[in-house]
Amino acid sequence: MAGPEGLAALEARVRRDLALIAYPESEWVPPRFTAGGERVLDVLIVGGGQGGQAVAAGLQRERVTNVLVIDRAARGQEGPWRTYARMETLRSWKTVTGPDLDVPSLTFQSWYEAQRGAAAFEALGKIPKGLWQDYLLWTRDVLALPVRNGVDLLRVEPDGGYLRAYVRVAGRDESLAARKIVLAMGIERSGRWWMPELLERLPADRRAHTGDAIDFGRLAGKRVVVVGAGASAFDNAATALEHDAAEVRLLCRRPELQRVQPYKAISYPGFLRHFAALDDATRWRFMDHLLTVREALPRETWERCTRHPNFHLHTGAALLDAGVRAGEVRLATAAGELAADFVIAGTGFAMDLASRAELAGLAQHAATWGDRYLPPPGEENPRLAAYPYLGPGFELSERTPGAAPCLADVHLFDFGATMSFGPSGSSINAMKFAVPRLVGAPTRDLFRADAGEHYRRMVEYRTPEFPLTFARDER
Ligand SMILES: Cc1cc2nc3c(=O)[nH]c(=O)nc-3n(C[C@H](O)[C@H](O)[C@H](O)COP(=O)(O)OP(=O)(O)OC[C@H]3O[C@@H](n4cnc5c(N)ncnc54)[C@H](O)[C@@H]3O)c2cc1C
Repeated sequence: MAGPEGLAALEARVRRDLALIAYPESEWVPPRFTAGGERVLDVLIVGGGQGGQAVAAGLQRERVTNVLVIDRAARGQEGPWRTYARMETLRSWKTVTGPDLDVPSLTFQSWYEAQRGAAAFEALGKIPKGLWQDYLLWTRDVLALPVRNGVDLLRVEPDGGYLRAYVRVAGRDESLAARKIVLAMGIERSGRWWMPELLERLPADRRAHTGDAIDFGRLAGKRVVVVGAGASAFDNAATALEHDAAEVRLLCRRPELQRVQPYKAISYPGFLRHFAALDDATRWRFMDHLLTVREALPRETWERCTRHPNFHLHTGAALLDAGVRAGEVRLATAAGELAADFVIAGTGFAMDLASRAELAGLAQHAATWGDRYLPPPGEENPRLAAYPYLGPGFELSERTPGAAPCLADVHLFDFGATMSFGPSGSSINAMKFAVPRLVGAPTRDLFRADAGEHYRRMVEYRTPEFPLTFARDER
């Protein structure tokens, strides 16, 4: 029996597939320069994780090539997969597509089968998280995406009709001019990781957030409490157990653990592609349910914790008080008192665009759902109201017209897009639908802004298809 085709053969197949769908091939965006003569990027993408990469790949397919992707992380350390993601496998199913932008040879399955064969893919459960990162790097390389690592975006400002991105590279400050900026900086980046103030006040060596780097080796023999009952909370509980914590107690505020995965009920093309076409009242109602019920954890994660005899689940255990007494953390909960050595907050993130330093001076002008939509009595939800209200191409919209027109050139591709588009930014499952939609926005705006120049180019186009000599005279 023949073995797997190997990566070199697959890469040749990718090149062939891309050539087959390359039409039309002309690059078309006229170059722009600042008053000082600096070439302006057509699109700057901040974040070289799966989202930023896929947007870059989509722009490349649309022949917009004056694009740069920056990421402050080192190559291979982008996103959560090799940093703070503490699950063993992705939560998505293994046939999920997205970074491939519908090119079959670019899918995870093709990449995996090329190296290990179809039977191995058949036998695979879910995708190990490290393999997902390796696959993302492979797509980056095979598509030759323009990613610069080690470049940290500090802030964005309008500058002479363009956007100026101030960045830090190896301790040096630089700046980049861009016509469009796509912010794909990670799932929590329309706000920030959040923990209850009660935990925030604990000494820093006694608590961490699941989004932090945590030295789990230090938790061996220790009593650990995890606050929160989502998938990441359980992943962190499991990691502590696997590092020989003496016990792990997980506090779930609700009387029962969420076991139903509401996202499964909306994972179909109609919803994922067309949610944004619904009116605000209907979008609000859908999201009120989805973002209130929240996600269930996968079965593997549940079993990874509950196979340990020293794992304890406390339901109906809302946190009431926290402090350090006699050398230990004392927690008062609605289900009783607990003592611990270390507390991990699995409490997710708070939506708060105004807190983003990268958008200081701009974010306060961006409209939120609370600015644009007043729900009927009984449907109020301050959590939803805090989400940014995005325009049809994921662009920020102004709270007051004229206050910060450059917001229309800032496209947000993280979880903050969820109220406006449903699952979209920072979601593997929705990439297939969300990325082409996002890519269509900067290309539309660039084309419209340059319509005069495109008209001139058309009128001045002078290349004849044939010479005026008669064919019979050409011997
Ligand atoms: C633990 C965990 C598990 C998940 N599992 C799944 C799953 O199974 N299925 C699913 O559909 N979704 C899952 N998600 C959601 C989503 O797929 C991931 O969050 C994914 O990483 C989002 O991709 P992204 O490109 O938007 O952001 P990221 O992958 O986080 O990439 C953002 C990048 O931006 C860079 N960056 C941030 N700020 C700056 C700055 N100022 N300057 C320069 N660079 C910057 C970061 O270094 C990072 O590399 C999971 C999320 C988490 C947190």
